[in-house]
Amino acid sequence: MHNLGRKPSILHSNRLSFALTSRLSSFLATTNAKAICTPTQYPTTLHKFEKSPRTSSRPLSLQEDFDSTLPAEPPTDSYLIKEHEYPSIRALRTDADIGDGLWLCSHCRHENILRHYKGTFPFKHLRCHRCHHILCSHCHTSAILSPIPFGLIYARPPPLGRETRYCHVCPTCGLSHRAEQEGSTLDFYATKCAGCGLSSWGDWPRYHIGDHEPYRRDPDASFAELIDQRAEDAARLAFRWVVANKVDSRPASRMSNADVGSDTEEVDAGVEESDGKK
Ligand SMILES: [Zn+2]
Ligand SMILES: [Zn+2]
Ligand SMILES: [Zn+2]
Repeated sequence: MHNLGRKPSILHSNRLSFALTSRLSSFLATTNAKAICTPTQYPTTLHKFEKSPRTSSRPLSLQEDFDSTLPAEPPTDSYLIKEHEYPSIRALRTDADIGDGLWLCSHCRHENILRHYKGTFPFKHLRCHRCHHILCSHCHTSAILSPIPFGLIYARPPPLGRETRYCHVCPTCGLSHRAEQEGSTLDFYATKCAGCGLSSWGDWPRYHIGDHEPYRRDPDASFAELIDQRAEDAARLAFRWVVANKVDSRPASRMSNADVGSDTEEVDAGVEESDGKK
């Protein structure tokens, strides 16, 4: 059952298989072969779920929608690949390698390539390819998957015939679901996860499906940016820990003495004097 808009998917299956094989070597070093999953190999219970009334106009069943791998973004311009040095550095030689964005796993630090697909499940299952960690608020992602606050419910309607660029992710199985949008109002409520059956009460992490362009233009810069963000977050977390544990109220140490400018000067002077007497 193919709908009218669905073209023969030679390109897309190539894209998927190339992406898989190109990552294989790194996977195999740390995981066994059984752990490798393509979107279609994930154990899903999609077939158990009837189409929701909201999606009844779709010609595809949920399972077909899930299996479909029509890229939502246009392919990477070849000049972007040719004119940059990154193909030799990070083995990003083709559109399939590059994808649409990056996700740094907060659990194992694996660098996952994100791909935005058309349909109800814009990023399929967001589970780390190395450790199966589900995308969480501590993970870092490039613009294609930008976290948004729970309060944001108004957004510019997508152009006619285009899908909304907002989604939320089931925290139990990691399946991404495209948000519903009526006019300028986003609806993240009462979604039943097609993968595990969990219901959303508006509490799943939400994301804006942002621009792939900055990442594609320079994946290394995007990677470095995410590393910086991770370091900043770690520093913020450490600072909170210090405040929460009232580290400053512990008995004075040499370090805390050094923080007081005048004391430091006196100490330094004392050292000089004693040095001078020797
Ligand atoms: Zn991981
Ligand atoms: Zn995480
Ligand atoms: Zn789920």
